[in-house]
Amino acid sequence: MVITRFAPSPTGYLHIGGLRTALYSYLWAKKNGGKFLLRIEDTDLKRNSKEAAVAIENAFAWTGLSHDGEIIYQSTRFDLYKSYVKKLLDEGKAYKCYMSRDELDELRASQSAQKIRPHYDGRYRDFKGEPPSGVEPVIRIKAPLDGEISFVDGVKGEVHFKVKDMLDDFIIARSDGTPTYNFVVTIDDALMGITDVIRGDDHLSNTPKQIVIYEALGFDIPKFYHVPMILNNQGKKLSKRDGALDVMEYKNEGYLPEALLNFLVRLGWSHKDQEIFSLDEMIEFFNPNDINKSASAYNEEKLVWINAQYIKKLPVDRLVEELKFFGVHVENFSKKEQLIDSLRERAKTVKELAQMVKNITQEPKSYDEKAYKKFIKGDALKNLEAFRQALELHGKCESASEFEVLAKKFLEERGLKLKDLAQPIRIAMVGSAVSPSVFEVLSIVGYNNVIARIEKLLNYKGKDDE
Ligand code: GLU
Repeated sequence: MVITRFAPSPTGYLHIGGLRTALYSYLWAKKNGGKFLLRIEDTDLKRNSKEAAVAIENAFAWTGLSHDGEIIYQSTRFDLYKSYVKKLLDEGKAYKCYMSRDELDELRASQSAQKIRPHYDGRYRDFKGEPPSGVEPVIRIKAPLDGEISFVDGVKGEVHFKVKDMLDDFIIARSDGTPTYNFVVTIDDALMGITDVIRGDDHLSNTPKQIVIYEALGFDIPKFYHVPMILNNQGKKLSKRDGALDVMEYKNEGYLPEALLNFLVRLGWSHKDQEIFSLDEMIEFFNPNDINKSASAYNEEKLVWINAQYIKKLPVDRLVEELKFFGVHVENFSKKEQLIDSLRERAKTVKELAQMVKNITQEPKSYDEKAYKKFIKGDALKNLEAFRQALELHGKCESASEFEVLAKKFLEERGLKLKDLAQPIRIAMVGSAVSPSVFEVLSIVGYNNVIARIEKLLNYKGKDDE
């Protein structure tokens, strides 16, 4: 059974890099009929907050990725971690270190003078004497003193760490008794039965320490996949300036969660030259062994393109649901299918779609100044007035084609071209010269409103006339 997890630290919001590793972990679990668990790493009581944890959970819920079982909060498990610290102490695999602040400073100074890596020198490893008074000890684990810690990373291949270069008897519990980061991650991964750890490669250097802990506690070591970072176009770490980092900002900008996931799955992984993947296809094709070894570059245009593809294809009712977030309620609009279908081709985001829908379903509050100047001149108003009369004479029209037949007849009788009428009508209907097919717009706006909007424009005193 494959069991994966996503383990965010609630220091702020859900980061898109985090969401990508969550997605990879989710896909790998689902592909194998396994489980995907969610753990909130909130042991750092100074930096973590309940609000941040809730924000992460909400953002995660928005993405539609579901986790199995209850969410595990590390902050509720201190007693458990303590019991494992005690176990290691009892078994002689960890020990109390009474080094004082002054001693530590001295050690650091002497190591720096010798130009050697700062590390703990093991002075209390075999200490049997009387503990110095007034020092609350930290607990250190007995790490190997020499040799290598190696593992096969599913993304990076074989990874070797020389003990001499990076390890010492590191602290697993602070003097106030609180366990340290690598210790709790290891305990939890082991107790949650995690078989495959997929995470950012900023955690690569934690892995040898975690392996030391797995071994000391006799736990099975999971497979590791360290995913390279997402970089900006300049090859630097992605920052706020390059794009949103908070997953919820994508929602606010009108990106669909499935489009964001599709974008993220491709950022660092590919399957032939396919760009658009349903979640089922991702599950079918994804394999963490195929994750790119090198960092991937964030490409906003690509995201916009993917989002537009989803907007073109999603069921109308789903888009109608999404529009609600932008204050647009067309669930009871009689021509909602026609409305959405006429607009979705040109909308790159749900936010844009919402604006377009507003433009059609609400009477224009103002007219685009440039368009007005450009098209409402010569006989434009006279023609509009005549068209209004023709509409009234004809009586109710419903469909786009009914409006079209009527308009064509009208134009023919007057020796006019469609362009003489189309832009003034657009301005009357939506306030600007940009809209889908003018007959679609007339049909969506509806006969009575069409007449009212034409009248409104006819009564409008243009800026120049004021
Ligand atoms: N809590 C860590 C983070 O947010 C992830 C730890 C892990 O995946 O092992 O970066």
